Amino acid sequence: MLIVQKFGGSSVANPERIRNVAGIIAESFLYGHEVVVVLSAQGDTTDELLDKAAEINPNPSKRELDMLLATGEQQSIALMAMCLEGMGLPVVSLTGWQVGIRTDAAYGAARIRRVDTERLRRELDKKRIVLVAGFQGVNKFDDYTTLGRGGSDTTAVALAAALHADRCQIFTDVEGVYTADPRKVPGARKLEEITYDEMLELASMGAQVLMNRSVQLAKRYGVELEVLSSLVRAPGTKVKEVSKNMEEMKITGIAKDEKVARVTVVKVADRPGSAFRVLNAVSKAGINVDMIIQANGQDESTNDISFVVSQADAEAASRALSERQAAIGFDHVSVDTDIAKVSVVGAGMMSSVGIASLVFEALNDEHINIQMINTSEVKISCVIDAASADRAVAAIHRKFFET
Ligand code: ADP
Ligand code: ASP
Ligand code: MG
Repeated sequence: MLIVQKFGGSSVANPERIRNVAGIIAESFLYGHEVVVVLSAQGDTTDELLDKAAEINPNPSKRELDMLLATGEQQSIALMAMCLEGMGLPVVSLTGWQVGIRTDAAYGAARIRRVDTERLRRELDKKRIVLVAGFQGVNKFDDYTTLGRGGSDTTAVALAAALHADRCQIFTDVEGVYTADPRKVPGARKLEEITYDEMLELASMGAQVLMNRSVQLAKRYGVELEVLSSLVRAPGTKVKEVSKNMEEMKITGIAKDEKVARVTVVKVADRPGSAFRVLNAVSKAGINVDMIIQANGQDESTNDISFVVSQADAEAASRALSERQAAIGFDHVSVDTDIAKVSVVGAGMMSSVGIASLVFEALNDEHINIQMINTSEVKISCVIDAASADRAVAAIHRKFFET
């Protein structure tokens, strides 16, 4: 059997953890499996590298930043290789470039275009354990790119798809995917199974346990994922097309995203095409928007248009609008980063009335004011003030899962 195993940063954070993970890898290999391992940078290395860069130049080029960030994962694979060597096992470590993980040119948020499997196959044929640096690839200029935060998950799924692996295991620091972040909500329950679609929504709405693009890729190529702990031996969560839970549970989980911002365009002229011009300016800047609200302004001839973007995009959105202030016609733009988006996800929501009102009731019980609401067939999101986010998640969780 060919197995892809991915270990996140906390799973390889120190020598003891590295030895622990080496034990898991060795066990699979000695059992007779072909093993390809994807590793993340140790602990908080990626954040530390970002800090280091900022000390030298607060505005480095994205190319050089990726050159730096890619080193974190390279350290992990080399150290793990040394550990396995020490155990007398055949092993080779490979960077994204050595494997041939080809990406587009978007530094910092590159997308994998293709994975060459030739070198991987050759190493597997030599009966070696193959360690691959996660989160990185190379673009058409042969420069290093990184895939975006949490991108090692995506590396693992891409390798599993390219190699037609029999299993893809994502080892992390919790025992699986839970109904809410188990570190924040003590009553959170581990899910035995979850569908790609629900996992994709949870990941996109802030549950960092899997990067959303890895789930997209898994769905597209039919790669079944298993999320499990590198520290505790227990069955994890299967991420697949259809889950057992689908009929029984109305909602699957709750996620929180604090890295969002609300942009409000104040006193936009109330005439046809205004909303189009506002959103067009933002989308032309390559920024994704969600939860759009238009409200009557203080006077009759204007409206305020608000929308939510990721915090990283807030400044750029504000700039793109200000550059077109005359053409669009508005008074000013304000940005509020002191908000959080809390989302309830579940495929069973479609067939069940009253889910939304239960969510609102939970927030009302806690006297939490809802600033914006967005609903779809599988999700309800509310924007609230950032300080109430954890309380909101706990209250909603109690309503659905702890009664
Ligand atoms: P890794 O370094 O292994 O990639 P991450 O920190 O990226 O790990 O993701 C694991 C973390 O995701 C957990 O420690 C947990 O706090 C968080 N998390 C958020 N929502 C969930 C959820 N619904 N289920 C499990 N973990 C979650
Ligand atoms: N080291 C990278 C990050 O911290 C990639 C990953 O951990 O998946 O985002
Ligand atoms: Mg991660």
